Amino acid sequence: MTTPGRLFLIGHPVAHSLSPLMQNAAIEAAGLEATYEAIDVSPDALATKLDDMRAMRAAGNFTVPHKRPAMRHMQKCTSVAMRAGAVNTFWVDENSELAGDNTDVTGFAGMVNAVLSDIPAQARVAIIGAGGAAAAVVTAVEAWPSATVTVHARDLSRAVAIRMRHSVVVRACSMRDPCLGDADIVVNATSLGLAAADSLPVELDRLAPGAVVLDLVYGRDETKFVRAARERGHVAADGLLMLLHQGAAAFERWFGTPPNKEVMWAALAGATGRD
Ligand code: NDP
Repeated sequence: MTTPGRLFLIGHPVAHSLSPLMQNAAIEAAGLEATYEAIDVSPDALATKLDDMRAMRAAGNFTVPHKRPAMRHMQKCTSVAMRAGAVNTFWVDENSELAGDNTDVTGFAGMVNAVLSDIPAQARVAIIGAGGAAAAVVTAVEAWPSATVTVHARDLSRAVAIRMRHSVVVRACSMRDPCLGDADIVVNATSLGLAAADSLPVELDRLAPGAVVLDLVYGRDETKFVRAARERGHVAADGLLMLLHQGAAAFERWFGTPPNKEVMWAALAGATGRD
């Protein structure tokens, strides 16, 4: 594969993303001749935009709401992307075919490693939401010994669809299901929290006191869910760490060499006022 000169984050909306800042910092640190920019592409324009990407041998990422639909436009996908049923990373391969991967799976694993020193034995994981990110989390948890997952969604049919694909999912539940209280790790994989006025994805008094809260959403400030969880004594983290680790895995996929993660984190920390 020849390394790409132009990279794009394709989403709708996309302006909130810190990926361009993080990836351009890594590209510059590696001394590569490339640019990474965010473009807003509506769902009905995705197919045409991907034809353009192939013609210019571009590479990049997908974000909300394209991760599942984009898979239909890939000529080949990694086994991890096939397992998750979604792609967040694409490139044009040596046969001029669009290829897709899902580095959100690696990204979630990296977030868990950073937040928890050990994955609890027989971990019980509750995932709120049933979109592309939820599927990536389930795919990551499949690698944990004896873990089980419950998926909670406002549209129960979407939670059931994930359960049908992944045997680690033992229950598909409504958002109000009381089994949330059994979970050791609670993951917000909805887009709730992107807007300051959003409600919490779940009321915190429904969680076990020792539950770890992992919010995939990130912003300039830590999310309301993370702040409220910490106030109640939970270990909690937002999606900035996942962004870092999925972005590093994507960089390695495009350029064949690992990026400088410290530089990437410094770019993210500088933009969000983190340590
Ligand atoms: P999708 O659009 O595929 O799925 C979103 C999910 O959230 C759906 O299950 C949707 O339910 C649910 N949802 C949306 N609004 C509400 C609401 N008001 N109440 C209850 N459920 C709701 O998006 P993704 O799965 O790709 O992404 C989800 C979130 O995770 C996004 O905020 C994204 O930014 C974040 N993310 C962060 C990453 C990181 O690196 N930190 C990586 C990947 C994702 P329904 O089906 O009913 O619409």
